[in-house]
This record gives sequence, C-alpha cells and structure tokens, in this order.
Amino acid sequence: EWKGETTVVVLGASGDLAKKKTFPALFNLFKEGHLPEDLHIIGYARTKMSDDDFHSRQIGNIKGPGDDASQSDKDAHKKKLDKFTSISSYVAGQYDEDSGFQALLKELEKVESERGVEKPNRLFYMALPPSVFTIVAEGLKKNCYSTKGANRIIIEKPFGKDTDSCREMMSALKEQWSEDETYRIDHYLGKEMVKNVLLLRFGNVWLESSFNKNFISNVQITFKEPFGTEGRGGYFDEFGIIRDVCQNHLLQTLSLLTMERPVSFSSEDVRDEKVKVLRCIPSIAREDTLLGQYVGADGKPGYLEDDTVPKGSVCPTFAALTLWINNPRWEGVPFIMKAGKALNEAKVEIRIQYKDVTAGIFDDIARNELVIRIQPSEAIYMKFNTKTPGLITRAIPTELDLTYKSRFAEAKIPEAYEALILDAFKGDHSNFVRDDELDVAWKIFTPLLHWIDGKDGEAPKPEEYPYGSRGPKQIDEFTSKYGFKRSNEGYAWPKTPMT
Ligand code: NAP
Ligand code: NAP
Repeated sequence: EWKGETTVVVLGASGDLAKKKTFPALFNLFKEGHLPEDLHIIGYARTKMSDDDFHSRQIGNIKGPGDDASQSDKDAHKKKLDKFTSISSYVAGQYDEDSGFQALLKELEKVESERGVEKPNRLFYMALPPSVFTIVAEGLKKNCYSTKGANRIIIEKPFGKDTDSCREMMSALKEQWSEDETYRIDHYLGKEMVKNVLLLRFGNVWLESSFNKNFISNVQITFKEPFGTEGRGGYFDEFGIIRDVCQNHLLQTLSLLTMERPVSFSSEDVRDEKVKVLRCIPSIAREDTLLGQYVGADGKPGYLEDDTVPKGSVCPTFAALTLWINNPRWEGVPFIMKAGKALNEAKVEIRIQYKDVTAGIFDDIARNELVIRIQPSEAIYMKFNTKTPGLITRAIPTELDLTYKSRFAEAKIPEAYEALILDAFKGDHSNFVRDDELDVAWKIFTPLLHWIDGKDGEAPKPEEYPYGSRGPKQIDEFTSKYGFKRSNEGYAWPKTPMT
C-alpha cells in the first residue's frame, strides 16, 4: 500500500467529475484516516486559477455533517477540510504541450522535496473528456513519470464507442502505460451492493446451489432515472443509454452475477472468470431489444425539446435488451437489462425470478424472487411464500427482508469513488476493468450499436414514452415474452421506512 510518499494529480481538476466525485472521495478517505497525513494533491487543467480560487471553487464546498450534527462533528470536519485544503495545490497548463507538464513536474518535485520524499509514487487521475485521454497520458509519461518510485493512472469511461474505437484508444494508451499501471474505472464496481454479489453467491450455499437454469426463470437488471437530459443532451446524444449504462455498468453487474466461482478473490482470478462468462454471451440480437425515447408530459420537456439535442435525433433514452449465456449453467435463461431516463422513479436493482412451483398442490402461488437493490437504500429481499397465519391453509407471499438501514443502522456505506480510489492506492485491480474484459464487452454490443447508429441502413426509430412513466407501453409485454410473471396480487409491503 502506498504511504506518504504519494502525490495525487487530478487532471481536469476544473471539471464536474473532479468537483462532484474525485475531490469529495479523496477528502472522505483522508478524513477517515485511510490516506496518509502527508499526502499531497495537485489539480491540473487549462483554466487559469490561483490556489485560492481552486480551493474555493472545487474543494471548499465539500459536504460536511448535516445541520443537526453536533458542534464537535462540525468542528472536526472544518479542521480536516482546512488541512486537506492546505495539502492541495493547482497548476494551469495545456493538455498538448510539454511546457504545461513541465510546470506540473516542477510542482511535483517541489511538494515531494518539501516532504523529503526520495522515491515518489505518483497517482494520476484523469477526470477529462476522452478526446484528450491519449495525449494527456503521453504528456504525463514523457514529462511527469516518476523514475524512482511507482506510477499509476486512473481513467474513466467512455472507453471508446465500439470495438474498433476502443481498441484504438487502448492500444494508444498501452504504448505509454502498462496494464499493471492502468486502473479503468467503472464506478458500479465500487458500489457496495455490486461488491456484495460475489460474497452473497459464494458465501451462501443455499443461494449458490439455486443459481442456475434449473431453478431460475429469468433475471432483470434495471436502471431507472427519474430525470431527463435537462440541458446536457448534447453529450448524451453522442452515446445513448446503451453506451452510457448498459455496456458498462449493467454488464459488469451481470458478469459478477453469473461468473463461475473464482479460484480466489485475487484480482486476476476474479477477472479471469468475468471474462470467461462474458465470452459465452453472443452479440445482442435486434429482436431481443426494445428501444424508447421520452416525450414531454406534465410540463416536463421531451428529449427532443432539449435545445442541445440534434433535431430529429433517434437516440434511445430507454433500452430493454435480452442477453443469453451459452454455458451449461445459464443456457436458456434470459437476462433482461432495462435502463432509462425520465422514468417514474430512481432505482437500480437486480431481480432474480425463480421458476414456478411444480403444479398440482397449489392453485395459485407466487414465484420466489430475490431482489438486490443497489440504490437507493441498499437492500436484499426474497419474495417468499408462507402459510397465512390463522386457521386457513392458504399461501401468502411475504418477504425475507434485509434492508441495510435497519440491519446496519450505524454502518457508513462508502461512496463508490471512495472504495475505488482506495483500491488504486492499494494496487488492487479487482474492481477495475481489465483490457480483455472491455474488448469482449464491446463485442457483445457493437453490432446492435451500429444498427442503432444507422451504420447498416436506416436507424431504428425508438418507441415514445411519456416523461415520468415506466417506459414504452410495450415494456410489460417484452418482459413477459421472456417469462417474467408479475405476481403482486395480494402482496403488500409493510409500511416500513425505506430511507
Ligand atoms: P467536464 O467537466 O466536461 O471536463 C473536465 C475538464 O476537462 C473541464 O473542466 C475542462 O477543463 C476540460 N475540458 C472540457 N472539455 C474539453 C475539451 N473538449 N478538450 C479539452 N479539455 C476539455 O467533464 P466531467 O463531467 O468532469 O467528466 C470527466 C470524465 O469523467 C469524462 O470522461 C466523463 O465521461 C467521465 N465521467 C463523468 C461523470 C460525471 O458525473 N460528471 C460520471 C462518470 C464518468 P479546462 O478547460 O480547465 O482544461
Ligand atoms: P415492484 O415495484 O412491484 O416491482 C416488481 C416488478 O414489477 C418490477 O420489474 C417492476 O418493473 C414491475 N412493475 C412495477 N409496477 C408495475 C405495473 N404497474 N405493471 C406491471 N409491472 C410493474 O417490486 P416488489 O419487489 O414487488 O416490491 C413491492 C414494493 O415494496 C415496492 O414498492 C418496493 O419498493 C417496496 N419495498 C419495500 C421495502 C422495505 O420497506 N423494506 C424493501 C423492498 C421493497 P419496473 O420497476 O422495471 O418498472
């Protein structure tokens, strides 16, 4: 694990990701004592800012304890934030000129010599648009690479737009940075409930023994966002919901859910198994898809009413895609990914629906369903039949409920970015995406994406759905085509608070 000889450089430090995620994650880790006291952080971007401007714009507003926290908690936060600010500095420079990186090197050497570091380790975090990834990675390698210590580079999606562009970007990066030095973030791999999947499966005999085609009818992995592009549609339109969510976050979740048991929890053993299962998934077929785009409703604007969206765009803001895994464990089980913007709620969950009870003794009995709610309010619950209490013998659907807020009331669930940055400090690659994993992930999606992009003729027109609805009206027909049965008749949750 890296200690105080480390300097973190955040490239694109003036941006949105740096402000919203990178600096708060670094601060929280620092505050909780996970990072060394004598760490130093340097922000780098083109925008000209003094250290003071940088502090007030990008660091000063890091959220502290709420209004109802005790004064001593508030004071402790303030003290740590002041210290964190004092170990952060800023350098302005271009992304494509050596002179900028030379100025960055000067600052690196200055802060390293102030701390008496002889073998400096440098962690470079690219919070930058992908258009400059390669050039910045080159500039850093050429000018700022530590020759006495170790170097690591963290990069963020999007890793290309299809198989070819991804390969091009990856091979350009590889010329400068080895696989061992590279940490590709998919922040879903840092989420508590996604990290939980392997433990749940391989730590519970009853669960693992039912995880196969003999018992499971269908699986849904669902991502729902209650807001649209709201003025950021220009960026979104280039990618669409499938590249934004399905090809990366949902596929990573799927691979953990379906991989075979790894030899150990070491990063290469885990990633070997993920790649193996992904290689059993054929490219998604057109007939296994339902695409949607939201239209205005109840005063909320439709996608095409966002001024930053190109006129007449057919970019999908909703997709339901069914994937198949050609291996003995999962043959014939449909895995339905659903992702959409401007839907009725915020929710990310995995819903594993078991098969029907063999006919004969019950007239009507609900299916078991295991739900892993990734967000909001982490939970795992099994929908489960029991005898209706009293003098009748009728089944009633109930639940085995592990809602984290009730069971682990005191636990602080870390932000995904905190978990991942700490892993990068430790040199643990388990929760980062390996190059071959990325390649096979793109292969599954590329033919479909080319069709949607209009590369094979006319682009398909997405189905309309109203802002705030559950998606296109065909969605329930789509999931039932793959065997999903909704059996919520007579089923109600007790009114326990979810948040
Ligand atoms: P951003 O704010 O648009 O860009 C970060 C910084 O890069 C900007 O402050 C700007 O700094 C510089 N920059 C912007 N456009 C540029 C261009 N065309 N050419 C050169 N430099 C440019 O982006 P972001 O939202 O922080 O995202 C950074 C990366 O993280 C992206 O790859 C994004 O896909 C990924 N990501 C973002 C989020 C998020 O929540 N924002 C979530 C997941 C992944 P200067 O002008 O000062 O140089
Ligand atoms: P649910 O909300 O009934 O959803 C089950 C499935 O049915 C989802 O795939 C959903 O699709 C679909 N669906 C939802 N509304 C539908 C409709 N009108 N027509 C057709 N299909 C529909 O989930 P549940 O697991 O049975 O949970 C029931 C309720 O209990 C939920 O509101 C849940 O949030 C709550 N709950 C409470 C606690 C707790 O208090 N501890 C814990 C867990 C759950 P989409 O979601 O994709 O639209």
